[in-house]
Amino acid sequence: MKASDESCTNAGWSHVTSLLAGCLIFTLASTHSAWATVDEAVKPTAAETLMTLLEAAKLIQLSPQEIYSRTQSVLEHFGVPAEAESQSVLAERSSQQTLEGLQAILPIMDPDHFLDHYIETNATVFTGYQDRDSKELHDFVISLLSEGQALPVTRLETRLKKAATQNPANLPLKGLKIALDPGHMGNTFWDEKTGKIVYHPDGRKLSEGVLNLQTVLLLEKRLTALGAEVLVTHRELGPVSALPLNDLPLVEFARRELRSSSADLWFQALLKTAPIGNPLYAAFEADSNFNKLFAESHRADYFILRADLDARTDLINRFAPDLTLIIHYDTMDPEGLTSGGGINKSGWNRTKVYVPGSFSVDEFSSREDRAFVARHLTSPFSWDASRKLGRSVVRELSDQLGLEFDRFGGGNSRQVEPGIFSRNLALNRKIFGHAVSYVEVAYYNDPKEFNRLHDYAHDMDIGGKNYPYSERLVNIADALENGVVKFVQTYR
Ligand SMILES: [Zn+2]
Repeated sequence: MKASDESCTNAGWSHVTSLLAGCLIFTLASTHSAWATVDEAVKPTAAETLMTLLEAAKLIQLSPQEIYSRTQSVLEHFGVPAEAESQSVLAERSSQQTLEGLQAILPIMDPDHFLDHYIETNATVFTGYQDRDSKELHDFVISLLSEGQALPVTRLETRLKKAATQNPANLPLKGLKIALDPGHMGNTFWDEKTGKIVYHPDGRKLSEGVLNLQTVLLLEKRLTALGAEVLVTHRELGPVSALPLNDLPLVEFARRELRSSSADLWFQALLKTAPIGNPLYAAFEADSNFNKLFAESHRADYFILRADLDARTDLINRFAPDLTLIIHYDTMDPEGLTSGGGINKSGWNRTKVYVPGSFSVDEFSSREDRAFVARHLTSPFSWDASRKLGRSVVRELSDQLGLEFDRFGGGNSRQVEPGIFSRNLALNRKIFGHAVSYVEVAYYNDPKEFNRLHDYAHDMDIGGKNYPYSERLVNIADALENGVVKFVQTYR
């Protein structure tokens, strides 16, 4: 499970890999704690034997071909299904981008050059490979426009320009489709699972899921009144996925996770313990990182970070919007507030947005992941639109709420420009072809912001129950509305 798939600071599941990219040095740090509990005995335990093997493996260098073969044999042995090919889904990306354009977006998507292990570019084609470094097995081939050839006019460009130039002044969003995703779930059951709730020492509390949903429902009304067709991914407190938590096929999700863990250092280290065969599989079966993937304790994480985000992605991509806003509120947990969920007494309140990008070393392990980044790299117009939407929204939030741009992007993020960070969040990665902005409105565990958001002045019915909201939320919806309208106006 990749840490970047949830944005807020108090995200519960820390994924441990040190990013010693592109080399085969590994660390045992993440597995030591599990083994430290093994009873001391004169005879080495299975875990100790494995540790010795892992230590010895440090000295072993395998060829990229051998690493690939062993990886495939391990995945097959543990029942990980073969991957769908990417070429047909990426065929539509041909002749949509120039080499110069691709090279301009590449540092945003891949600031650490991890993708170099899987791709090659020249003046006419962008080629992806399935086998890291050896580059013998094609993943996809996308043709590029030659130098001087104009970029084709996209559907998005046509629609945005039409709205910007032809709409009446009172309906500036007429003809546009807008998707709104209120982050998280926001009821007692899910707030406990996600930890997306802040408790004040005086007994008051704020659920991020409730704030997100209220913000979206207020914004939906405004955008609809301005002529837009709006999709809201969920209108009640709870998940988007209809799959009951207990019905989630744990092993299926764990297998998928095993594939996406295959570039992780622990996986790479285990590959060196033995050639293809039973001793190699036994080394995996004895490893705590491997076993964690299949543990029942990860059921909720797979639901929250995989099944539910995939349900949101599917809804949005099927709707084919012109722009998507994903709404979240952030927390800053100072040192000492280890458990999260409390007020940050030292105070920190800023605003920011995330655009797609900053894939990390362990996020290129599947053909699906590489197809996502290939889509972003070959969609120059929608990439630029995401940046413009982010810029417009974050400026309005900053001006209207009196908040500075955040200096911290969190996780594996990079600042693209003031207030805008690239981060490989699941929705940013999987939604494409239009303008996407993942908004962290404000820090709701800042004491002053908490008080403003908790100063209830209006009623809102959600699922038959009243969830009151503050005037602050009205201001936030105003800012988001203005951000969207001004974004569309940039296409005049
Ligand atoms: Zn959030």
